[in-house]
Amino acid sequence: MGRHDSGQPAAPLHRPEAYPARRPPPVAPMPELIDLHTHSSRSDGVLSPADLVARAAARNVGLLALTDHDTVEGCDEARSACQAAGIRFIAGIEVSTQWRGQAIHVVGLGVDTASPALTAQIDDIAARRRERVLAIGERLATRGRIAGHEVAATALEGGGVPTRMHLARALVALGYADGAQQAFDKWLNRGRPGHVPVEWPELNDAVPRLAGACRAAVLAHPHRYRLSGGALRQLAAEFAAAGGVAIEVNMAGMGPGDQDRIAALARRQGLAGSAGSDFHDPAVPWNPPGRFAKLAEGISPVAERFDDAQ
Ligand code: AMP
Ligand code: MN
Ligand code: MN
Ligand code: MN
Repeated sequence: MGRHDSGQPAAPLHRPEAYPARRPPPVAPMPELIDLHTHSSRSDGVLSPADLVARAAARNVGLLALTDHDTVEGCDEARSACQAAGIRFIAGIEVSTQWRGQAIHVVGLGVDTASPALTAQIDDIAARRRERVLAIGERLATRGRIAGHEVAATALEGGGVPTRMHLARALVALGYADGAQQAFDKWLNRGRPGHVPVEWPELNDAVPRLAGACRAAVLAHPHRYRLSGGALRQLAAEFAAAGGVAIEVNMAGMGPGDQDRIAALARRQGLAGSAGSDFHDPAVPWNPPGRFAKLAEGISPVAERFDDAQ
């Protein structure tokens, strides 16, 4: 088959120089993406650091920061995986703080993972987090009349830094909710049986400490805080005064109104801009790792400060 009488292989249908064999049809190349806010299973993400990096590689992410809640433990594994995948890596963290009684998250990029000051701060937060999980388990038992201690034990099983997301997943695993969001709504949010108020370090103390142990402290997901415009401006001003240098301006879930509002805030405070997914879970299909690096007019990309990342 495929041979002429001459015994030579059949001539190709197309001249090879005009249409080289096996070349896929032309498609626009996938633009390189960046992601400066992601989570692994070292905090409340679903994927191990190496599996997160594999996801990012599949999406053509060229610059990645791992920013787990209050821990840097996944950074070594993520860095090795990034080196193997040809992705430039930034060691990061997302630190829990509070301002006017509200939880405010601050991302640290280019973290010195061996910093004694940072280690002391995050060890303290990890201890508070473990205590909170047990306290919530207790409340679920006494006020919710469910097997709260079992919920807490399940939440603490996987190791890593325990968050309320671990409790939400444990509530689902033990049949007390159909999904994590329902677990928050039914059991964990304010006004529900498992709500336990928690105190994080004050933003004005935490940011200078973090800024001293990293290259860029970034105000995380500013569009999600329940603050008036004036209060958000005050927060951004205090954040900048405390040593913060950037703010997240490009994230999934930011509508056009949010983007304009946050971009204006960044310009007003002279903060650089950051872009990230806040990726936790591949089962959330609308928020994969990777964002476009281009930011709104007049905003300096914080990513440019990491041109030396390897
Ligand atoms: P926390 O332990 O309070 O810092 O919460 C840990 C994580 O749980 C957050 O980073 C979110 O990923 C998730 N989370 C917190 N509150 C909610 C909520 N109300 N609904 C859904 N997810 C939440
Ligand atoms: Mn989280
Ligand atoms: Mn956050
Ligand atoms: Mn996050």
